[in-house]
Amino acid sequence: MKRVAILGGGPAGAFAAEQLASAGLSVVLMDEKLAWEKPCGGGLTYKAYHQYPFLIENTTPKRFVTETVLSAPKAGEATLKLGEPLVIYSRYDLNHMLLERAGQAGAQIEKTRVTGMTRQGEGWRVSTTGGAMDTDFCIVATGARNSLREVGTQLTGPDTMSALGYYIEGEQSRIDIQFLPKLEGYIWVFPRCGHLSVGICGKGEPAASLRKRLERFMAERGICWKDGRFYSHLLPSLDTKSWKSNRVAGDGWMAVGDAAGLVDPITGEGLYYAMRSGDLAAKSLLAEVGGLTERIAHYRKTLRRDFAADLEFGSRLAKRVFHGSFLFGGVPSRMVQFTRRSPRFAGIMQDLFAGRQPYLGLKKRLMQNLNPSLYEIAMSLGFSRIVPGTRTS
Ligand SMILES: Cc1cc2nc3c(=O)[nH]c(=O)nc-3n(C[C@H](O)[C@H](O)[C@H](O)COP(=O)(O)OP(=O)(O)OC[C@H]3O[C@@H](n4cnc5c(N)ncnc54)[C@H](O)[C@@H]3O)c2cc1C
Repeated sequence: MKRVAILGGGPAGAFAAEQLASAGLSVVLMDEKLAWEKPCGGGLTYKAYHQYPFLIENTTPKRFVTETVLSAPKAGEATLKLGEPLVIYSRYDLNHMLLERAGQAGAQIEKTRVTGMTRQGEGWRVSTTGGAMDTDFCIVATGARNSLREVGTQLTGPDTMSALGYYIEGEQSRIDIQFLPKLEGYIWVFPRCGHLSVGICGKGEPAASLRKRLERFMAERGICWKDGRFYSHLLPSLDTKSWKSNRVAGDGWMAVGDAAGLVDPITGEGLYYAMRSGDLAAKSLLAEVGGLTERIAHYRKTLRRDFAADLEFGSRLAKRVFHGSFLFGGVPSRMVQFTRRSPRFAGIMQDLFAGRQPYLGLKKRLMQNLNPSLYEIAMSLGFSRIVPGTRTS
């Protein structure tokens, strides 16, 4: 293989480009905007910087947040301390850093829009607004709004969430997460360097109605959004059925990041999965496993083993998390109450936030901890006098 074209230079494409160029391949990365402030919270979990320590070991501006306040209808608030902080970047800064690393590794970076790709023998002719280019292999990293119809995930309505919000002047040290009645999604307030990102994501509800919910929340909290800059974007959130037929690779191409639908269907976290899939695609392309067909199969297999099976399982849980009930109350409300009253349950939530607790295995851990958590809740409610053997002097 002589030349690999990377279509799209967000975190997925930039990271794949860096890995392939470092291994000595000739890499051309094409992005119509290059570094830009993509609508995004910009939050990176422990899982991301534990896997890729350069994400915290650098001089790029970022915030480290160690406290999240969770709220849900009729449940009040719970403060969750994060043992491992969430790191928040502006997307311009994060994208710029990743593209710079790709360039330093030897990737050729071009600002151009890809308009199409056609098969040319064993390779491709990639058409762009700046001309055409022949390449041996394509990595498709064009994000959730991928306009290249023949490659990448075919997102349908049930496979997406709307996500929108405002960048607002202000400062706070914690993250706020607000669950809302009858919404498969949530509101967030993320502190960033110099401003706040206040947004909402939701599945199965029109963007206009999500915007109304968000503005009502901001009005209640006294957050003024009139001078704030509005943003909106699409967030992949694959339906369980769609994971089975997800088009992540084909003859001569692999898709990474949002273009492959690789986003957590519950939290909307996509940055880690974008970089991880870029990494796995690069490793598969470089793997000594036979020809291209075997490398493509290798990518599908490692992707599934590494995290896609877990995200698929998450897609089954999503409805139950947002709309389910437990002990005569909504799951989000119970989650908030349990976090407030049970240190043991709060520990599970911390691991979920850090990305250390996969969805596969979550139910088992919750069940194993149910009785001890209920016991802690009973104690916190002052039932020590009536639970036998728990009376303290
Ligand atoms: C409102 C919102 C909040 C979010 N918050 C978080 C968060 O806090 N944490 C988190 O982990 N994830 C978050 N996500 C998800 C995260 O933003 C995405 O998962 C992530 O950006 C995916 O990276 P990517 O490289 O696959 O795609 P993108 O970042 O979308 O990059 C795609 C790139 O391709 C380029 N491109 C597209 N089409 C073409 C073309 N035809 N020719 C040339 N270039 C092209 C674009 O210019 C872009 O630079 C959020 C998403 C939204 C919408």
